[in-house]
Formats: sequence, C-alpha cells, structure tokens
Amino acid sequence: MIIARTAVELSAALDSKTGSVGFVPTMGALHIGHRTLIEKARVENDVVVVSIFVNPTQFLPGEDLSKYPRREEADFKICELSGVDILFYPEVGTMYGKDEVSIKAPDVRGYILEGAIRPGHFDGVLSVVMKLLNMVRATRAYFGKKDAQQLALITQMGQNFFMSVEIIAVDTVRESDGLALSSRNVYLSQEDRVEALKLSASLKRATHLVMQGVRESNEITKIMLEILQPLSVEYVTVVNRRFEAIPEVIIGDTIVLVAARVGLTRLIDNVWM
Ligand code: AMP
Repeated sequence: MIIARTAVELSAALDSKTGSVGFVPTMGALHIGHRTLIEKARVENDVVVVSIFVNPTQFLPGEDLSKYPRREEADFKICELSGVDILFYPEVGTMYGKDEVSIKAPDVRGYILEGAIRPGHFDGVLSVVMKLLNMVRATRAYFGKKDAQQLALITQMGQNFFMSVEIIAVDTVRESDGLALSSRNVYLSQEDRVEALKLSASLKRATHLVMQGVRESNEITKIMLEILQPLSVEYVTVVNRRFEAIPEVIIGDTIVLVAARVGLTRLIDNVWM
C-alpha cells in the first residue's frame, strides 16, 4: 500500500497504476461500515484509493472538529488488510489555500434537515469531495446511505457539474442489535448506547408499519416519535429520493430519516423504502 501525503505524491502513486479507480473518502476512525465500502470498491475496480481527511470546512464553530476521533495507526492497518492500493492522508494545507473558489450546496436541498441544523455543513462536504474526486481521478466513488442527504447532494453535484465519476450508494452497516456503525459511537457511554438503539428501533417500526399497509407519513412519524422518547429529537421525516417531504410513502422512492441527540452525541439514521 502506498501512503501519499501530498498532491504530488498522490499523483505519482496514481501514475504508477493502470485501470479504473475506486475511491472511498473517509474521515478516519475506520469501522466495518467503511470496510464494506472499501470491499465493494475492491471488487469493482482495478485500483482502490482511500482518503482519510478530517475536513475542517464541514464542521461548524463549536462542533467536534478538534476532538473528532483520530486513529492513524489502526486506520492504516485496516486499509492495508482491506487491500487498499493507495491511502491518501493529506494535511489541511494540502487541501485548502486562501481565497478559493468554493462550491455551495443548493439553496433548498442543502439547507434542510442536516443542512438546517448544521448550516454550511454541506458546502464544506461538497467542496472537499469535489477536490478529492479530481485529485484521485476517481472512476467510481463509494458513499454510505447512512449519510443519505450527503449522498443525494454529492450525486446532484455530479449531475450539475457533468462530472464523469460514478457515485455508488452502499447500504448502512449495523451492529447486531441494530445500531448503525458510526465513528461517533465511541462518544456514547454505556447508558447512551442503550438509548441510541431507539433510533434504529423507530426505523424498524416504520418499516413494519409500511409492510402492514400504513402509508401516511404523519402516522409513521407520530409512532416513531413515541419510540424515540425521551431523546432530544432534531427531526423525523419522510422524504422522496430528491429530499422533498412527501405526505405518503411511495415504495421504491422513500427515505425515512431521524436525527437525535443521545447525551452529548448527535446521531443520524435512516431507512430506504
Ligand atoms: P465518515 O468517515 O463518517 O465521513 O464516513 C465515510 C463514508 O463511510 C461515508 O460515505 C459514510 O456514509 C460511510 N459510512 C459511515 N458509516 C457507515 C455505515 N454504518 N454503513 C455504511 N457506510 C457508512
């Protein structure tokens, strides 16, 4: 595995390879969710590139940028064992200069739900993803459905800027009890961990309700909110794949999303129907 820390090193590493490039961008503290993305990239491409970069521009003031979990040694090992060809591990100065051209998330879709609670977050996400996709010369890039709004916006950016990269969506990987894997789960205390299960439990219930024939979004979110008690819920909503709120579930075109605070930790989860 080649470890590239600068744009020049990355370019040289890519020049030494041939064929399609599968790319998995991450912020590190790698878990089985990330590994699943890497494994899919490994199967579908000649060359696999993973980036580890805790992108400062997607954190708002007061968010957990400085204490975001960093696990350099373990992450390198996981990449090596997963058959990664090139690990890109840049510093902030490699990725950003002064007075730059920037990417802005769409006014509506980029500023609702996650974008309403974290205004400007998706501007930072889209900017860094654009930079990384270009630097890595990605043929295909792999993103988790867990971050559904991020995935939708990156897919839209690809379309709006006529980018040739193929954006691949990967199913959410969960613990056996249902908790969606997240680098932020390390912040959860033992009691938090139990409370956190309410997110996946509420989504499981939503799925059962739909299987039983319930379609009204209000009915579904009302029951989910009961399950989520007494968590501090930020949103529970039913949207289509374009992130428009819909009054009724449309099978094949619906995502049910939840965001809540468990102790001091913000968690998000969703189910695609
Ligand atoms: P992050 O390091 O949190 O920025 O995540 C990097 C990529 O891994 C993103 O595309 C995430 O959506 C994806 N990801 C994170 N958690 C999971 C999970 N539990 N299952 C599948 N993909 C995930």
